Formats: sequence, structure tokens, C-alpha cells
Amino acid sequence: MARPLLFTLAAFALLGCSDAIAETAVNEDELPHATINVAAPAPEMDNYTEFAAIVARHQAMSERVARISRRLRVANAPLCDVTRLDAGLSTHRLDDYPPDIRPLALHFMTLGEDGRFIRAIVPGSPADQADIRPGEEIISGWPIQPDRPLVIDDGFGSAPIAITPEPACVAPAFVINAPRPNASTDGREIELSTALVEQVGDDAALALIIAHEMSHVLRGHRQDGPRWVAELQADTDALTLMRNAGYDIDATVAGWEVGIEIHRDSQSLSATHPPVEIRLHNLEQALARLNAGPDGFVRLAVQ
Ligand SMILES: [Zn+2]
Repeated sequence: MARPLLFTLAAFALLGCSDAIAETAVNEDELPHATINVAAPAPEMDNYTEFAAIVARHQAMSERVARISRRLRVANAPLCDVTRLDAGLSTHRLDDYPPDIRPLALHFMTLGEDGRFIRAIVPGSPADQADIRPGEEIISGWPIQPDRPLVIDDGFGSAPIAITPEPACVAPAFVINAPRPNASTDGREIELSTALVEQVGDDAALALIIAHEMSHVLRGHRQDGPRWVAELQADTDALTLMRNAGYDIDATVAGWEVGIEIHRDSQSLSATHPPVEIRLHNLEQALARLNAGPDGFVRLAVQ
């Protein structure tokens, strides 16, 4: 990633690091990748290394969750009352971050002091196909609309980029820093804890969790409603949403069966979900119904 380097170097003045390095590097038209290593600030190295590791870990998890969530949201757009156009990119601004970590964010993340920058791109998405890359700055055209190009500055100059976003269900999934494995939704967004994303190594197993939360959003399930009914319905819906997105749901249910002890352990912390045996039986029945039904797109079962 050569382009974010300009922004990285801009942070040095702010951090009181060597101006000489910054000036030399910024005057280069093409910056060598190695400059990142050369320019690392020595005195705060421990903090920086730690922060960089946290950012990298969080970024990798966020990208994984965004990719799975987007696949489910685009494939199931016909089921959602509310959709939005999604190009498969996420953005950020420096003031999205708490003031005390802004110098570090500026140093280690792909953004500058002013403006909106591309944070991540979902592989295979319209943004990826249009060759938009993390670290590039959005000059205009945000939020994306179908009849308006996005003007992007890639560090070497700005240019309009035609991009065709796809309709996707709302309720994107995000990763939050939390030590306990958990997934939840407030009815608008879905939150997965870092501990959960780390624990669930298989993408389809993670898709089942995200799709389960999507069902709570789609159905408008409420916290004070009958929880077991809602939870079993969310499991049933999750298989439908996954199948519409092309996941192998036979393997997913088989995987759930194999991992039942893990589910039992993590669920013993929570009284809101039915016992794992009941959930598994429900998943198996839902799978059998889907497999016995016609091929192609499936709408959610009437409650
Ligand atoms: Zn649930």
C-alpha cells in the first residue's frame, strides 16, 4: 500500500517526529514501501507496535465480517423492505476516532487529517471492480448515488469513477472490541464481538450467526417478545438467507452438530436462547424443508 504513505507521513509533524524524514519523503513522487519502516518513531515504539497490531487485527476481522455480511445483504435484497445502494466499500474520517487516538489513527490507518478516505473494499464488489483502493480520498460524490460518479484522489490526482452500486438489505454487521463472544442487534445494526469473530474460524458458521441477527432485524423481533420463538425463527430464517446467498447449508448444519459442545458452553451464559438440542433439531427440520422445496430464491416462511 504505497498511497496511504503520504497520509502516514503527514502524521509525523503532528507527533513531533523527524521533520527531515517527512520533508524528504513527501517530496518524492513515488514513495518506496520501505519508507514505512524507516520512518517508524523510535521513542513510542512499544505503544505504536501494540496499536498497529490492534488496528491490523481489527481491520482483518472487519473486512471478513463486511464481506460475509454484504454477501447476505445483497443476495437477500428482495426480502427487505428497506434497502440501500451498496458499492462494497467502507470509509472513515479522522474525527470518527476519539481525540486521544487520532495521532495514532493518522499514523497507522489509511486516512488524512481532513476529508473522507476509503477504509476497506469488499473483494469482488463494484468498488473492487472499479479499482478503488483503501487510503484513497473521496473528493465528491459521497454518499454514492447511481447517476453520479465518485470522484477519488488516489494520491496522484483525482478522477471520476463510474460505479454501479447494488441494492442490499440495511443492517450491516460490524465488529466491536469485546472479550466475550457475542452477537447482537439493536434492530438497525448488527454487532459482533472481536472474541466471537476470532472464535468462529469458518466463514459459513459466521454467516449463520450474522444471518440469524439479520432475521431479528427483518422480523422486527423485540427484546421483550417471546424469546425462544424468536430465536428458533431466526435460526430457521438464517438458513434461508444463507441458501439465497449460495452458502452450503447442509455443511453448515452438519458443522453446528459437530460443534454442539461449543454452542452449549457459550450458551450457558445466556438464558435467552433455547437449549442447544432444541436449536439443532429446529435447524435440521428447517434444512430438510428447504432441501425438499424448489430450487432458486426462497422467501422467508410466514410466521
Ligand atoms: Zn437471536
